[in-house]
Amino acid sequence: MAHIRIANLSKVYKGPAKAVDNVNLEIKDREFVALVGPSGCGKSTILRMIAGLEEITSGEVWIDDRMVNDVPAKDRNIAMVFQNYALYPYMTVFENMAFGLKLRGYPKAEIVKRVHEAAEILGIRPYLERRPKELSGGERQRVALGRAIVRKPLVFLFDEPLSNLDAKMRVQMRTEIHKLRLRLQTTFIYVTHDQTEAMTMGDRIVVMNKGVVQQCADPMTIYDKPANKFVASFVGSPPINLMQGRVVKQGRKYFFDEGKFQVKIIDEAVPRMAPYDGKEVAMGIRAEDIYDKLFAFEASPDNTVRAICEVVEPLGSEVYLYLNSGRHNFIARVGAHDRPEVNRDMDLVFDMSKVHFFDCQTQATII
Ligand code: ADP
Repeated sequence: MAHIRIANLSKVYKGPAKAVDNVNLEIKDREFVALVGPSGCGKSTILRMIAGLEEITSGEVWIDDRMVNDVPAKDRNIAMVFQNYALYPYMTVFENMAFGLKLRGYPKAEIVKRVHEAAEILGIRPYLERRPKELSGGERQRVALGRAIVRKPLVFLFDEPLSNLDAKMRVQMRTEIHKLRLRLQTTFIYVTHDQTEAMTMGDRIVVMNKGVVQQCADPMTIYDKPANKFVASFVGSPPINLMQGRVVKQGRKYFFDEGKFQVKIIDEAVPRMAPYDGKEVAMGIRAEDIYDKLFAFEASPDNTVRAICEVVEPLGSEVYLYLNSGRHNFIARVGAHDRPEVNRDMDLVFDMSKVHFFDCQTQATII
């Protein structure tokens, strides 16, 4: 159990660019925090600085009431699980899991007890005498987890632990890590480039880009109230539809003019949008907030958009429509039995209460 605080943390490797740029984070005891962002955004560097595997350029890392900047990795009581498992190939599963405890001089009986306990939790007891090459990817990752568990660390750090697994195994291991977390009641920091992993596992998500934290919040806040265009487009599958356009005022009403269509900005959003009258903005709307007009409840000329349906992609439980307004491509997610005709115009209804607008200069969310 531990509480972690990161203050003004920066890392410069070489040259002027900061791999990590003034990051501040507070991670509560027993919290599961996912750091997510595209490759190269500085996630692993943060994790390695917390673990003590990377020198800190400036800033502080605190574990509970102790500033650990100068504490060697081995004395931080942190366990790290890596993407490539980092198992010793010539040792058995038992020996791999016992190794860290042996180095620390634990008595043999205690080592056996802890390894068997961890093997039981992870369902790898039958494999204790095998070597890593005799195991599947998922089993190897369990051994790597086991090696971390036996140490009973204050904090678990995971660096893309599921990236080497196939899609099905990834989903399975995701659930297992979730269960593990409930059982161990420890602080977890989990690095991934996969937004689904972050969304499904994290109590809170830290979205990063270019070394800078873009937003830190619970998953639904990140999804429903993204702080900026980057966060909106990074989270969600299919990605949010983004369209460039202009705010126009007609009488008392404000519209978003995409060039080929106009949709009315809801009254509640007007105070925030009015300063953008005549200006370029980007509108973001998620696929599930666009309806086929044939099945929509509240269609009106103010929220109806005509577009060509170029592709219909049935996925069983839902259907993706790939649409083209004449200026933008966008995707709608509609009911499983909806089959509009391809290469024909169709009418779509935008749920204007769900759209986001972004400032074209700052990329920040306007509403
Ligand atoms: P992520 O984990 O988000 O993929 P990293 O933390 O690994 O990103 O890397 C952040 C940035 O720092 C990248 O631009 C990467 O190229 C750079 N970087 C990482 N490790 C080193 C290193 N040892 N030497 C120089 N540059 C590095």
